Amino acid sequence: MGQAYVIEIAETGGVDVLRRKARDPRPPGPGEALVRQTAIGLNFIDTYHRTGLYPVKMPFVPGSEGAGIVDAIGEGVTGLRPGDRVAYLGAGTYATHYTGAAASMVRLPDGISEATAAATLLKGLTAWMLLFEVRRILPGDTALVWAPVGGVGSLLVPWAASMGARVIAVTSTPEKAEEARALGASETLLSGTDVAAGVRELTGGVGVDVSYDSVGRASAQASLDSLRPRGWWVSYGNASGAVEPIAPGLLAAKGSLVLTRPTLFSFLGEDGGMARGTAALFGALRTGAIEARIGQRFGLDDVAAAHTAIESGTTRGATLILP
Ligand code: NDP
Repeated sequence: MGQAYVIEIAETGGVDVLRRKARDPRPPGPGEALVRQTAIGLNFIDTYHRTGLYPVKMPFVPGSEGAGIVDAIGEGVTGLRPGDRVAYLGAGTYATHYTGAAASMVRLPDGISEATAAATLLKGLTAWMLLFEVRRILPGDTALVWAPVGGVGSLLVPWAASMGARVIAVTSTPEKAEEARALGASETLLSGTDVAAGVRELTGGVGVDVSYDSVGRASAQASLDSLRPRGWWVSYGNASGAVEPIAPGLLAAKGSLVLTRPTLFSFLGEDGGMARGTAALFGALRTGAIEARIGQRFGLDDVAAAHTAIESGTTRGATLILP
């Protein structure tokens, strides 16, 4: 690797606001570790920071997760040593190096590569949150899963299926529908069609127990119309834009529905969430219930192209950014 650098944004906008800046790594302070990054996971949230959908303080280095080799540790760090392989969630990972709290870094077990960790940590913990913490999925449940072959979706579909759920996947093209079936979906619907009508037909008029909806604005109505009475609309993303507000009375009228809008960070901070989530995630990877599906790789210098790709809906599985 050559000179140390970060990718920074000074203003919100299109992909051209992502700019390379030379920056020496920050030495680790007490309780911190400095990591030479070898793989960075691209997440849709990085585009929300860039466009301003989720406001951040400028200038801002995007990037929400990474993995690499510990280069140096600060005073008082006992759990990590230089040379250890680690992964972490953290702000500002679009960079050759990352300095952060050692306690927030997960040492990678044998058999889990840095690429696998960067491809699955944030997205796999999101799938864990959806299936285990928000609402426990049960054998026999029927789940509608939107964007089933994307970063989160390609982990959510097989994991839900491995737990005995019937997965109905909604995606944009017949090719992606075929991939969703290969991942474990029982049935598929195309998002350009009347999804709620398709769901009714597939479920004998009943509807699904839960809709895992990451598409947002464009899928909200279909999610609501696809649920059985007391079903759960788990709205966890905005790939097509933010969902319009809805009146609580609508949930009553449709049969005591539950609407929740979970965000991963509320599930990690308390009650050992991070330890529980990573144990479940690495366990599922090791048993083969799920696998890292790295669909594309981009150089850190070329991160603008990675944003263009994920925003155009053409990516499959996880996207890695390589410093
Ligand atoms: P994905 O790889 O799933 O990419 C987005 C996918 O959304 C596309 O491939 C496409 O799939 C679908 N899509 C539908 N409409 C659009 C549109 N207008 N523009 C772009 N894509 C569209 O991304 P990630 O796995 O990184 O993230 C998935 C979602 O999960 C995001 O909305 C993200 O914000 C959310 N998320 C939420 C978290 C939380 O804590 N709540 C944590 C992590 C992620 P298709 O062609 O199949 O429709």
